[in-house]
Amino acid sequence: MVPTPIGNLGDISKRMAETLAQADFIAAEDTRVTVKLLNHLGLKKPMVTYHRHNTETGGQAVIDRLAAGESCALVTDAGTPAISDPGEELVTRCAALGIPVCAIPGPCALVTALAASGQPTGRFTFEGFLAMNKKNRRAHLDSLRREERTMVFYEAPHKLAATLQDLAGTFGLHRPLTLCRELTKLHEEIRRTTLGEAAAWYQENTPKGEFVLVVQGAEPLQEQEATLEDGLRMVDRLRGEGLSLRDAVKQAAKELGLSRNQLYDLAVGKRDQSSPPAEEG
Ligand code: SAM
Repeated sequence: MVPTPIGNLGDISKRMAETLAQADFIAAEDTRVTVKLLNHLGLKKPMVTYHRHNTETGGQAVIDRLAAGESCALVTDAGTPAISDPGEELVTRCAALGIPVCAIPGPCALVTALAASGQPTGRFTFEGFLAMNKKNRRAHLDSLRREERTMVFYEAPHKLAATLQDLAGTFGLHRPLTLCRELTKLHEEIRRTTLGEAAAWYQENTPKGEFVLVVQGAEPLQEQEATLEDGLRMVDRLRGEGLSLRDAVKQAAKELGLSRNQLYDLAVGKRDQSSPPAEEG
């Protein structure tokens, strides 16, 4: 698995170039794109195609050659194979057959955008592209309504405006967004904005280039504070379990973060109204 630059040839690593040079053959998403990279590196290599429309036949051809002892470098047009790109099925099949797979680290728009986003990176979720199909798209967005982790989306320029509208509709106009455009390229832009502002901007301006959207996660729901009524219910339950009134109040007040005196007064008042005085424990 050989990642390739997402826009800047300076991101070619020594290991990437060596692996391409040493492989017996290259499986490429589009050989016309990869041949340019090979020319840049001064390499000539036998190539086969492996793309999302031939994962079955193309994959089998690669597997047959690997099983016969050849080595293959898998590349896509840009970035890391298997990340919103062909590669996933091939690795799964290799894993099932016990064929070793080695993934070389390198350019990936997801990681580059997240790192530059200024959003929390400790926990994040990669959501790839939203579906074109309305029902699947809605289901995908609905599943993220309460997502607290930073969310990363890929989007093509011609669908960006609609996607921003849908994201703003789901998460609200004020949700912070980092819009990462043309990463590693001459016109790289990292714009820290909100979903509402970005949606409005791209209603008026035509999106150009490649985009990654980094959307801040939802604020955690505030835990509801317990009321004295909750406290009374707990006292009743603990009394039922055999605790004295005093101990039940003490435990309930501590667990629910309530005032012990207030809860005690209320519990005593309730007892006075509803039942004959019981012996204090
Ligand atoms: N496998 C690739 C990777 O590792 O990032 C992603 C391939 S996916 C088919 C293409 C999408 O990645 C684009 O639509 C865009 O969302 C994102 N992308 C790729 N290169 C980019 C760049 N230079 N700047 C911003 N986004 C980019």
